Amino acid sequence: MMDHFAKATYGLIGYPLGHSLSPVMHNTAFKALDVEAEYVLFPMKKEEIEGFLKELKDKDSPIFGLNVTVPHKENVIPFLDALDPFATKVGAVNTVVIDKNRRLVGFNTDGPGFLAHLTEVGFDAAGKRIAILGAGGAARAIVSVFCLLGSRPDSVRIYDVDKDKAVALVQDVGSRVDASHVQVVNSIDDLNIEIADLLINATPIGMKAADPSLVSEELLHSNMLVYDLVYNPPETPLLKMAKAKGAKSVNGLKMLFYQGVLAFQHWAEIQLPEPVKARMWEELEKACYKK
Ligand code: NAP
Repeated sequence: MMDHFAKATYGLIGYPLGHSLSPVMHNTAFKALDVEAEYVLFPMKKEEIEGFLKELKDKDSPIFGLNVTVPHKENVIPFLDALDPFATKVGAVNTVVIDKNRRLVGFNTDGPGFLAHLTEVGFDAAGKRIAILGAGGAARAIVSVFCLLGSRPDSVRIYDVDKDKAVALVQDVGSRVDASHVQVVNSIDDLNIEIADLLINATPIGMKAADPSLVSEELLHSNMLVYDLVYNPPETPLLKMAKAKGAKSVNGLKMLFYQGVLAFQHWAEIQLPEPVKARMWEELEKACYKK
């Protein structure tokens, strides 16, 4: 593995990139593994992607792996040589491996990262009722996971302020996998949160101090898990309310962590040792919450 990473560069493409937490996570792993490599940010606009990815085909390029974030998770696909089966089904890529023949292979670790966290908190989606707020890129990966699980949820309801966007998402995912248990609803009330086992916030609402909770408190109950993909602040108004109602509540920082771990494992073709993962998590939390 040392050879694989010798003086290698890894990085994140997206626009704008702002305060990304990915460098801290991956550079911690390189250091812990005593590998000479670095993870950097590559902010770029859509029109720059094709040229950038073409240059990676050069055998002298030092770049061996990428993460991809908004707004390029779909934009990169036409320029890749192959997609792994899950990324094909999601229709979005957040990880690119540049293999030894300089072929660019796309993966999606957002969905598996989310699932790894759900498993860690002990939530088994089989036969459950799931409500999702937001139908953007993150929801796309999550809906795909709920369509591909061996034991699927009983129902997945999804609401977005832009109903057409939610309909297009479900139609698109449904064109590749069975999404017959996924239903787009017209309003938050139609999400049936009062009988849901899992409520997921996949909108950015909750990131700003002044953001209201999208859901009224009386809909939440103690037999549910409330999962907010927003992780800064660590406790959004939604999570605060959920806690007050006795629901289990978690934010999305561990999803970010697991998608990073899985991306790293694709690049390095190894399983990261537990102590390395623990260091990555420690540094990620520290950087996120300035602990
Ligand atoms: P996105 O593509 O912008 O999708 C968000 C969706 O929510 C959009 O369709 C948006 O509609 C919709 N929305 C906004 N306000 C709404 C409201 N009041 N009610 C219902 N729907 C509403 O963003 P994303 O990439 O999916 O990310 C969503 C959130 O998850 C962000 O906060 C992001 O930081 C977070 N995230 C976390 C992780 C993690 O690892 N923890 C990973 C990915 C994303 P409009 O476009 O019409 O506004």
